[in-house]
Amino acid sequence: MKKKLVLSNAAIIVAGFIVAFLLAALQVQQQYTNEFTKRLDTALSILSTQTDEIRKNPEVAATDIGAELAKSGQQMRISIIDLNGKVTGDSAKEEINQNHSNRPEILQARENGVGYDTRISASLNERYYYKAVYIKDQFFIRAALPTADLDAVINRLWIVALFSMLLGIAVVCIVTSILVYRMTEPLNRLSDTARQISYGDYSSRVDGEYKDEVGELAQSFNKMAESTEAAVSQLKSKQNQLEGVLQGMDDGVLAINQENEILFLNHSARVQLQKFSLRDGCRLEGSLLIGKIAKLMKDAINSSEAKKELLAGAPNEKQFMVYASPIEGQKAKSALAVITDVTRVRKLEQLRSEFVANVTHELKTPLTSIRGSIELLKSTDRDEKPRRYFYDVLDIEAERLHRLIDDMLALSQIENAKEDPSVRRCSVEEELMDCIDRLTPLAGKNQIQLTLDADSSLFVSCSPTRFQQLFGNLIENAIKYNKPNGSVTVTAQRQRQTAVIRVKDTGIGIAPEHFDRLFERFYRVDASRSREIGGTGLGLSIVKHLAALYGGEVGVESEVGKGSTFIVRLPLLPNEP
Ligand code: ADP
Repeated sequence: MKKKLVLSNAAIIVAGFIVAFLLAALQVQQQYTNEFTKRLDTALSILSTQTDEIRKNPEVAATDIGAELAKSGQQMRISIIDLNGKVTGDSAKEEINQNHSNRPEILQARENGVGYDTRISASLNERYYYKAVYIKDQFFIRAALPTADLDAVINRLWIVALFSMLLGIAVVCIVTSILVYRMTEPLNRLSDTARQISYGDYSSRVDGEYKDEVGELAQSFNKMAESTEAAVSQLKSKQNQLEGVLQGMDDGVLAINQENEILFLNHSARVQLQKFSLRDGCRLEGSLLIGKIAKLMKDAINSSEAKKELLAGAPNEKQFMVYASPIEGQKAKSALAVITDVTRVRKLEQLRSEFVANVTHELKTPLTSIRGSIELLKSTDRDEKPRRYFYDVLDIEAERLHRLIDDMLALSQIENAKEDPSVRRCSVEEELMDCIDRLTPLAGKNQIQLTLDADSSLFVSCSPTRFQQLFGNLIENAIKYNKPNGSVTVTAQRQRQTAVIRVKDTGIGIAPEHFDRLFERFYRVDASRSREIGGTGLGLSIVKHLAALYGGEVGVESEVGKGSTFIVRLPLLPNEP
């Protein structure tokens, strides 16, 4: 802009100077011409009165008249030219042999009586202004004034004009530059600030005090920048809040555009999709599950409708409820998905329905038996022996129901207990000894030998009743699922900070394919045998939950036909000083 203004101003100045100079030069030239004409006219009118002397001796007359004019301060050349164009007399005292009949002023004079011309004299090699008068049928009188003066004035005029033009241009350039700088500097600042703001520096302002319209513009601009900054910071803080909420969500949140490029995804989404390399800007692809989610989101974009589907990579993998919704009000279409891991919920639902089915079944069996026995007792008069049999059945089934309800209650209490308030420091050896004492009659009845080998220095933190319940169940199983004349060995050893308690039997053993489900509620390896010996199918589940309640775990090693070993690990308490 600055350059343009300077150049255009300089061009205007140059054009102005050229026009002004041309007018002045023409004016000067015109004045000189008028002056020359006047002088030549005067001289020629005098000469016209002396035609007789000129005719007599043109050469002397021309010389004399020239000398006289020179005396009066008028340097003028006088020439007498005969009708044939020969110069018969000339005050220049030069012998002039050239024929002058074709000279423009002579030709004009022959035609009009008077003729003018300006040119470089061919004979004197000097520039002259000529005027010729035709003295009818006698000769031509020609007066000539050298134009050297006029030429010098015009030349000087050119030089002065050129210098003043250069000076003018220089002055114009400097003044225009200063003015333009003053005018454009605030505009430059405005544009710099605008550029900085466009690059994201919203704190940038136009500084400096400007009083004119530019000042008002700068003020308005600063106000606009302030409100933009406030709006942007508000927007940013809201965005941060939103991002914080989205990042902190347990559900995965994911947004993509139509080109399947990720616009946003939170940490949970990365965890759930098991693809930590996923980033904003990269494509949503990588696994079967990701492909299914991408397809659902694309469907939502294309149909402009929210979609909801239960998705999983493979049948046995985690299950996700994916809710994909198109994002409205944007030029480029995009979609947002909320991914919820429903594996646990589904599993719980499945467990609950399995549990209800199992409980119903477990309750129904003894109840059917009880109802049958009652019906039979009511129907006819029975002998003492069958009546006794039915009473025994009633007793056994009622006992089974009682145990079932007891076990279910115990399990529910253990499951719901986050911590046991009745815990205390228990000696592993003493508690195991109590257990063995309690179960010795049962072992005797089944011809099983019970042995205990426990390290007396082991102490754990638990409720004695629960401890009895845990190991009572394991030892009772070891007796129940044993072979006649078999044995059950209970050992307790220290292993670093853990008490390792093993209940080993020489019983029927368990096939490895049952290990995974053995501790599930109502899971039985041999259901009929378990029922026959009064099992509820809840014993090992209680064992597992109790071990977990006290920070321990339970495992099993077994071989069919040879026996099983149940291993319980509980965290040890430090020995008392
Ligand atoms: P139950 O009341 O039927 O004994 P448990 O939960 O205590 O229920 O045991 C689950 C199943 O594990 C039993 O039905 C039995 O088949 C098997 N089991 C448990 N302990 C032993 C063992 N020591 N030896 C062989 N099988 C066992």
